[in-house]
Amino acid sequence: MIGDRSVAVFYDELMLGHNPEVDFPFVPSRVEKRVRSILQGLDFKWSYPEHPGRLTAIRDALTAQPVPGVEFHSGAPASYEQLGRVHATAYLDQIFSLAGKRAWLDRDTTAVSPDSVQAASAAAGQAIAAVEAVCSGDADSAFALVRPPGHHAGPLRAQGFCLFNNVAVAAAHAQARLACERVLIVDWDAHHGNGTQDIFWADPDVLFFDIHCAAPFYPGSGHLEEVGAGLGEGYTVNVPIPETAGDLAFEKAFREILLPAAERFQPDLVLVSAGFDPHRNDMALNLTYDGFRMLTQIVQGIADQHCDGRLALVLEGGYNLSSLAQGVHAVLEVLAGGEAPALAECGIREVEAAADFHREAFTDD
Ligand SMILES: [Zn+2]
Repeated sequence: MIGDRSVAVFYDELMLGHNPEVDFPFVPSRVEKRVRSILQGLDFKWSYPEHPGRLTAIRDALTAQPVPGVEFHSGAPASYEQLGRVHATAYLDQIFSLAGKRAWLDRDTTAVSPDSVQAASAAAGQAIAAVEAVCSGDADSAFALVRPPGHHAGPLRAQGFCLFNNVAVAAAHAQARLACERVLIVDWDAHHGNGTQDIFWADPDVLFFDIHCAAPFYPGSGHLEEVGAGLGEGYTVNVPIPETAGDLAFEKAFREILLPAAERFQPDLVLVSAGFDPHRNDMALNLTYDGFRMLTQIVQGIADQHCDGRLALVLEGGYNLSSLAQGVHAVLEVLAGGEAPALAECGIREVEAAADFHREAFTDD
């Protein structure tokens, strides 16, 4: 029943300070010139899609309809040392030097505003606090509601709205400080988590499973053949799927690929890069809220079976505010002990009900 399990949600207002509005002047650079020329070529007015309204929409939905068993907390911002477990110091120094400034970081439209570095440190810090909560037993599971997102950020670069790789920072913290040797990261965002893949590419202690809309969809990576290298060969599992795939394809991938992979890997901790852009109202793929419920139930089952339920989710993408907020709400209900209904192709249940309704009309009794 919803409320049977405790869920710690980690959130901090500092993350609302990341707000790179494109009308303000930016630090002049080659990237800035390139982005400006791209934006000028558009025949519509572009605004930064990864904006503070994403988090406030989720917060407002949870205030309007609280989920029993869910409690809000704030964790401390991540330290330089904690970030340095997955990012090169040269990269961190570059990012920290941008505090107080507006700058474009890549031509895939990643930018910072004066308070972005503080916001990004807070985001990674909430992900760390989430794994601490589940490893200490303070909560049955945890969800870090964060932005900027993280899964495109690699060891050396910002990309795709991401500055620090929040889920990777959390995984490395769990290994370094919380006695978790093996960490499973499940990425169900619509986009391939190329940054997370790069960070753990040669690492046999992190199993990275990523289902995503196939290339050439952004960022264009995540092919089947990308399986890791060296000691990490076989510890990266990509499942590229077509843009029209939905609930049943996701469920099949989780049951037939993720479950046996997790069984073999025996994780000490399960993390999820939880994006809500695969919802049917968002940019690609066709998940429903029940689809998100089912995926949550499956990863929760993996955590229950292999690691005393230690499960922490970290928010990634999701740009339709309504499906983002309702998707997070649906996931929290399952984390809190709710049931995921069995999935069917969209419309099948309605047709079954209609068949029952009309059946008498065609029979003699
Ligand atoms: Zn995404």
